[in-house]
Amino acid sequence: MTSLARSVLALTGLRKRFGATLALDGVTLSVGPGEVLAITGPSGAGKTTLCRVVAGLETPDEGSVRYGSEPMDDVAPGRRRVAFMFESYALYPHLSVRDNALSPLRAPGGGIPRERHRAIVDETLGLLEIAHLADRLPGALSGGQKQRAALARALVQQPRALLLDEPISHLDAKLRHKLRGAIRQRLMTRESPSIWSTPDGLEALSVGDRVAVIDRGRIEQIGAPEDIWLRPATMTVARLIGDPPMSVLSGELEGEGDALVFAREGLRLPLPAGLAADAARATSRRVSLGLRAGALSLAAEDAAGAARGEIYSHEPFGKHEIITFSVAGGAQIKIKTRTAARVRIGEAAGLICPPDALALFDTETGRALP
Ligand code: ATP
Repeated sequence: MTSLARSVLALTGLRKRFGATLALDGVTLSVGPGEVLAITGPSGAGKTTLCRVVAGLETPDEGSVRYGSEPMDDVAPGRRRVAFMFESYALYPHLSVRDNALSPLRAPGGGIPRERHRAIVDETLGLLEIAHLADRLPGALSGGQKQRAALARALVQQPRALLLDEPISHLDAKLRHKLRGAIRQRLMTRESPSIWSTPDGLEALSVGDRVAVIDRGRIEQIGAPEDIWLRPATMTVARLIGDPPMSVLSGELEGEGDALVFAREGLRLPLPAGLAADAARATSRRVSLGLRAGALSLAAEDAAGAARGEIYSHEPFGKHEIITFSVAGGAQIKIKTRTAARVRIGEAAGLICPPDALALFDTETGRALP
C-alpha cells in the first residue's frame, strides 16, 4: 500500500440535487484512518447518495471529496480505490461466491500478493458464515446470503476507504447481532476509514466509533455514540435514536426563573432545576419536551409528582415491555419498563419523569436547549 493508506477521508460542503429533491444539503464531515463512521437516518435521507458521491458514482453539484491531501473530485470511480458494498449487492451473476470475492483482489492495483488471495477470501467467507456457499452462483442464494457475499467482496480489499451501504439489513436479527460485532472487529484492525450506512439507529450506535445522523440531506448531529444517545442535538435525532426513541411533545413554557413549567393540553410538568436554567435562556416560549422511554416509570394515578393520564397500549417484549401512556388531548408518551407491570388498557395511571428522562428543544429551530 502507498502511504496514503492512513489518510483522512474529508467531505466538504457536499450538495447534490435530483430535480426537486435536495439529496445532500451541505454535508461536511471527515473519517479518520481506522475509524468507522456510522451514518444513520430514515429512508431517503441521503445515505446512499453520500456513499455514491464518495465512490465517484455521483458528481456533487457543490463541495469536494478529499483523501488525505489529494482531491478526489476529478478522479474516475475505478481509480479512487474505494471499496463500495452496494445496497443492491451488484454481484457478478456468472461467478461463484468465492470468485466474486476474489475479483477485486485480482484487479490491477489490488495491492495484495496473489498467493494470499484465496486464504483471505476463505477466511472472510468463514467470518460471515458463508464458507459452505463458496462455490454457489448468486442466483442460488437467499437475499441474506447474497448480502453476505457482497459484504465479503468489500471486506477482502485493502482500499483507501470502505463504504458499506446497509451491509447487514437483510440478515435475520440473530445473525445481524452476531455479525455486526465480528465485522466491526475486522474494520477496527484496518487502516482505512470506513463508512457504514444503516437506517437502524441502534445498529449505528453499536458499530460506529462516531455516528452521523442525517435527515433530508443534512447532518443533524455527529459525535460519539453516547453523545447521540444522551444528548440529542435536535428533535429529529431524539425522534430517530432510541429503543424506542424519545417521545417529543410540543408545548409552552410557563412561569419564571426556577419555577418554569412545561405546559400543553393535558400535561403540566414543573421543570427540574438544570433544565429550567437552560429553558430560562431560551429565546422563545415555544418549546418541545423530549421524554426518554427507559427513564420514565408508571405510578398510581394520584402518586405525588406524577403526571396524570391513562394506559393506551401495552406491548410485552419478553424481558421488557413498552407502554404507551396518553394524556388528555391525546398526546402519547412511550415508557419502557423491565417489570411485568399489571396494566390494563384504558386504566388511569400516573407518569413519573425524573430529571434524566427529559430534554428540551426550541420548537422553531428544532435544536436542543441551551
Ligand atoms: P434508503 O435508506 O431508502 O436507501 P437513503 O438515505 O440511502 O435511503 P438516498 O438513496 O441517498 O437515501 O436518496 C436521497 C434522496 O434522493 C431520496 O429522496 C431519493 O428519492 C433521491 N434520489 C436518489 N437518487 C436519485 C436519482 N438518481 N434520481 C432522482 N432522485 C434520486
